Amino acid sequence: MSEIKTRCLIIGSGPAGYTAAIYTSRANIAPLVIEGQQPGGQLTITTEVENFPGHPNGITGPQLMDDLRAQALKFGADIRSGLVKEVDFSKRPFKAVTTEGLEITADSVIISTGATARYLGLPDEQKYSGLGVSACATCDGFFYRKKRVAVVGGGDTACEEALYLSNLASDVFLIVRKPHLRASKVMQERVLNKSNIKVLFNTNTTGLYGEEYLEGAHLVENVGTSNEQHYDLAIDGFFLAIGHQPNTEVFSQYIDCDAAGYIKVKGATTHTNVPGVFAAGDVADPMYRQAITAAGMGCKAALDVERFLAEQTL
Ligand code: NDP
Repeated sequence: MSEIKTRCLIIGSGPAGYTAAIYTSRANIAPLVIEGQQPGGQLTITTEVENFPGHPNGITGPQLMDDLRAQALKFGADIRSGLVKEVDFSKRPFKAVTTEGLEITADSVIISTGATARYLGLPDEQKYSGLGVSACATCDGFFYRKKRVAVVGGGDTACEEALYLSNLASDVFLIVRKPHLRASKVMQERVLNKSNIKVLFNTNTTGLYGEEYLEGAHLVENVGTSNEQHYDLAIDGFFLAIGHQPNTEVFSQYIDCDAAGYIKVKGATTHTNVPGVFAAGDVADPMYRQAITAAGMGCKAALDVERFLAEQTL
């Protein structure tokens, strides 16, 4: 075990964490960033980001995160790999322990651990995990060139994944439980206009099948109506894109969360119920969940930390 003391511990390294690191570094707070299990966060598994201001020609998710990381390093942030596996927020200074054996003592904390992809909860999802089931088209799409795949979900993520896969796979089926898509109009239009994407509205997945690898999905259309129809869809890949679960488990003993697990912050600030612990990004934002809003919240958390440390004369 090695020990380290910091004025500000930033847990997580998505747009919120890195932005908080840039601001706190520039304020001479010398933050320590623990990157988490997916350094760079969810954007590292997306393709093109077209809506981050300042990039008129778009930028890839991994490049954007590399740039944010480099900017935080430039101002002196101490960025380390590992996962915070245990915290003690019962008194100050706060304590945290990482999977790499680092024992951290911190005057303030910013939680920016983001959210993780949700699964449907079918037992078969685990059985075929890595054998046809995935929650990341950009990570695994390559394996499905000229094959048939399905994406579950009707939001922007599902549309983005379907479009990405449509450039690799021969056929893409978008399985949507409602009679309409939830995604933004521009994404809906792109999906509906793509010749090798077929949208299956009013459709739920009840199971998956296959010998060793995934070979298909059991689907039901118009469930609960007189027109209910069960059928099997032969596919090689099954991609989940049905939203995310905030990564708050390790903090839940100390930090107030809502019913879905998102950290509750006070009003327009990033204050949690524990003075000195702040939250930013998707982990505290069930509403907007955008890279730019996460970055903005990371900035707010850094400013909140600065004020907190000044008030405590730390
Ligand atoms: P969303 O919560 O927006 O959408 C989740 C989708 O999954 C919905 O269509 C939902 O259906 C469906 N779903 C949820 N649970 C189930 C289930 N058990 N079975 C079947 N379907 C299910 O999540 P996203 O990840 O798509 O987006 C999150 C946020 O990120 C949004 O604000 C989105 O706009 C944003 N985003 C923006 C992007 C961009 O601008 N480039 C790219 C990706 C995301 P239902 O509609 O019936 O509830």
